[in-house]
Amino acid sequence: MQPQPGARRPREEKLKRLGPLQWIGIIGVHSHLFDNQCKGGQRRWRTLVAVALGLPTLHPDDNVLAFCDVRGCGEWLDHHGHHRASCTCRLEGHLHALHDRFQAGLHGILRDLPGVTSTTDKHAIPTHVAVDRGQARAQREQGDIYVKLPASGHLASVIGKPDLVIDVTRAHTHTQRGVALGRQLLQHKADAKYRKHTQPYTSQHIAFLPVVADTVGHMHADVVRLLYHAATVKASGNVDNEGLIGRAREDHRFGFRRANIFRRYQADLGLLLAALGAQQRHHPQHFSFAVPRSRRS
Ligand SMILES: [Zn+2]
Repeated sequence: MQPQPGARRPREEKLKRLGPLQWIGIIGVHSHLFDNQCKGGQRRWRTLVAVALGLPTLHPDDNVLAFCDVRGCGEWLDHHGHHRASCTCRLEGHLHALHDRFQAGLHGILRDLPGVTSTTDKHAIPTHVAVDRGQARAQREQGDIYVKLPASGHLASVIGKPDLVIDVTRAHTHTQRGVALGRQLLQHKADAKYRKHTQPYTSQHIAFLPVVADTVGHMHADVVRLLYHAATVKASGNVDNEGLIGRAREDHRFGFRRANIFRRYQADLGLLLAALGAQQRHHPQHFSFAVPRSRRS
């Protein structure tokens, strides 16, 4: 029997029409962040939309000629917020706060996995001597998150060791003069972190992973891999979870559960990064540090 040619079309057209707007669904979950209940919410929303569309991030009402208040800088502040987002000297407290918010978002995902313990306490994270031989004094270096994985579990088997140190990096997509740095920015930052930490940590029998993202929400491939494997473990709900990849292949319900969790991790972290980037493009006083948190919890 011939399938009805017209029968499926309305559904397909609907899907096609919704495609480019899928991000609206993600924003919808976090909509309370963009109203008056959250300080700077409307400004954050405006900036997020402007960045997504490539428009100036400053509203015409704010559009007075302004100069960077970082001491020793004094450059003109562009309307896309690139200078503000990449001039680091004296706004370090603000930048650290944004970095820590992203770090906390990732830490929350890892800590929530069955059998995994994880800390961001600097006293508990293993240190090593700096690799850079140019330095006269031996300086201690360390990552941002120290994770202990169940020894017989899925994560330890894909990472290769039950001890893992993660270093979190956020990088702006443009130079101070507004020149786009392109996608290789993520790879360059990740390479630099691997060079700095991998060998010294390996000699302590600790695995090292850089988590690199940019200020609009792109994540380096290795971060996406980490989230994928984290979602696999989360979907299994077990501490001893060997052979999960094969199980996902056979059990479709498990596969869908993992896909659901994986997508949620990506969406939550991606929106968090975009919202933090929006804060970074304005003066800190115009925003609160309130962070996106989905309503599921
Ligand atoms: Zn500056």
